[in-house]
Amino acid sequence: VLESQLKYIVGGKTASAIERAFGYTTAGELLQHFPRRYSHRGELTPLRGLPIGEHVTVVAQVLDVTERSMHSRKGSLLEVRVTDGTGHLLLTFFNQPWRKKQLSAGVRGQFAGKVKAYRGNLQLQHPDYELFDRQDVAEDQAEALEEAAALAFSKRPVPVYSASSAVPSWVIARAVGLVLDSVGTIPDRHPEWLGLMPLSEALQKVHRPETDEQWRSARDSLKAMEAFDLQLALTARRQRAQSEKAQPRHSGSLLERFDARMPFQLTGDQQRVAAQLSSELTRSSPMNRLLQGEVGSGKTIVALRAMLQVAQDGGQSALLAPTEVLASQHFRSILQTLGDELVGELSPVLLTGKTRAEERRRSLLAVASGKSRIIVGTHALLSDTTTFADLGLVVIDEQHRFGVEQRESLRKKGRNSPHLLAMTATPIPRTVALTVFGDLDISTIRELPPGRPGIESFAIQVQESPKLEHLAWVRAREEIAAGRGVYVVCPAISAEEAEEGQKGRATVEAVAAQLRQRPDYADVRIAELTGGASAEVKEQVMRDFENGKIDILVATTVIEVGVNVPHATTMIVLEADRFGVSQLHQLRGRVGRGNLPGLCLLLTQAPLESAAWERIEAVANTADGFALAEVDLQQRKEGDILGTQQSGGRSTLKILRVVEDAEIIEQAHEWAGEAVARGITADLQAIIDEEEANLEQLAKS
Ligand code: ADP
Ligand code: MG
Repeated sequence: VLESQLKYIVGGKTASAIERAFGYTTAGELLQHFPRRYSHRGELTPLRGLPIGEHVTVVAQVLDVTERSMHSRKGSLLEVRVTDGTGHLLLTFFNQPWRKKQLSAGVRGQFAGKVKAYRGNLQLQHPDYELFDRQDVAEDQAEALEEAAALAFSKRPVPVYSASSAVPSWVIARAVGLVLDSVGTIPDRHPEWLGLMPLSEALQKVHRPETDEQWRSARDSLKAMEAFDLQLALTARRQRAQSEKAQPRHSGSLLERFDARMPFQLTGDQQRVAAQLSSELTRSSPMNRLLQGEVGSGKTIVALRAMLQVAQDGGQSALLAPTEVLASQHFRSILQTLGDELVGELSPVLLTGKTRAEERRRSLLAVASGKSRIIVGTHALLSDTTTFADLGLVVIDEQHRFGVEQRESLRKKGRNSPHLLAMTATPIPRTVALTVFGDLDISTIRELPPGRPGIESFAIQVQESPKLEHLAWVRAREEIAAGRGVYVVCPAISAEEAEEGQKGRATVEAVAAQLRQRPDYADVRIAELTGGASAEVKEQVMRDFENGKIDILVATTVIEVGVNVPHATTMIVLEADRFGVSQLHQLRGRVGRGNLPGLCLLLTQAPLESAAWERIEAVANTADGFALAEVDLQQRKEGDILGTQQSGGRSTLKILRVVEDAEIIEQAHEWAGEAVARGITADLQAIIDEEEANLEQLAKS
């Protein structure tokens, strides 16, 4: 069965090599190590008639090896003659004499490279190769080698596994084969009505296909199973959450008074979402909602209105922010938006890790007694010492910075289940949302408040366009002269920090120093802001910047999320290639927030042909965060997309790919809904339990 120890099936030596390389110890784990791709004999080119100038892969045997020193320059040349029975080919290696140990006469392998004609001979210079008959091969691997070689010559697709030097692909193939032969029929818990290939058959065909058609349909079924399992668990979790009891919260005079003093009208999207939240808060099952909306789309005010609805009957709302800067800015903006009268009645407090002892004691008391009905804070809110009198609503800002467990630990502080509103300014493509936040309902604000003057963005390659770089600083100076704020974002804080293999990085320290030395910046007030500064310093700096006492803020990405300074118009990002697409978009969102147009300059040394430049240009050329999120997704590794941080399901997917397999995920989402509607069978419950166990394990790691 699947729990069997690998060592009893594949032998101790191979098993321990596999464990060292991948951490697998059981048959089941190894079977989940799916081939990365399949190669074909058809892809192999016979040596007779090799096309000159093309990239080829050949399977051949080494005839002889000669090493000689070069005539015209220093160094040695290794010449390896190979044949496949149809012709000859010369492999050449310059200054790599050690290869002659591997490439001895009689050895066979695959060689890949570009064909060149040299003095009447065809040759591959420095080809990549994988040998079938390595002499240092352990005895229990020898047979696997022959099988692999034989397979390579048959018409069957050859699975190629991600491998390590100690455990090459063909050894994995062999071990998987032994496991498949020994485990017998694997029980399949997936309902028949899904119409998927039975699990045993799918595993068989994905690892040992006879045709391409076989592995393709097997892989589709395995993907669908994985997607279904995840969606089922998420759907079940959502259902469980809905069966919990929450205190209904009805709106009243507090919200009316607030709306009456609001200086603007809600946008259509804000109204729609506000109505959604308002009605869900009156239910006796908890709201579980993710609100996504562009930076500056006005999520906070919508959240604040929900808090006022909860406050009506004395309920408390906790707003959790990822950084101290953000928490204190939220706090200040809430005080201002509420106005003195409502502040007096609701006694909002700010709780962060750096709140001083005496103030903290007072605040904690106000929270525990129920006097304070709006509590803003960082992780400090999660601490055991924070107890609430009647926690009715948990609002999480920049949800992606928190894990599921943190969200849950705050929710557990309510007497019964508090309502939950998670917010994110990182637009999430739907299939990612389904996979990562499948247990949350999703609302989206796409519309920006009217009268936003927009942001102009430019990507600047500093070596190609030194003039533009110069103009960037001139332009920033003009903005300052007009009384506006400028952000300069650097990838590192200080030289020491940058030194870890990244010399020459723009650092906050160095850039601030350079600016201070510029004659034209002589009277410009420059401040530095980094994550390492104390809460007091950070807050003071932010406040000074907000109040126009500082002109330029040279900072790291501490200012990335949520920071709101309406008169800041210019964002200059140095070494923009160090940042991801979504991150750049977030940074840009810091400007153009008031009624002044924004300017975003993305400076980089990345060459014009590079992927990094393309990425930066993509940001400069589109303002649509959802479109950029798609770009971002294409460029990120799967593990990053579903990182522990934000995973609702688990840290990594096995065979499913969120970007490629959008359709499968949508389908699985529907199936999961239907499965739950039909009733949870013992088999389905087992799937759910397994997925939940995965999550638990994740929480512990
Ligand atoms: P988000 O949190 O979504 O990035 P905020 O809630 O911080 O955005 O709102 C950005 C700015 O827009 C704030 O200064 C806020 O007061 C203002 N704002 C919000 N909604 C509106 C609206 N409907 N009309 C005009 N200004 C608005
Ligand atoms: Mg915000």
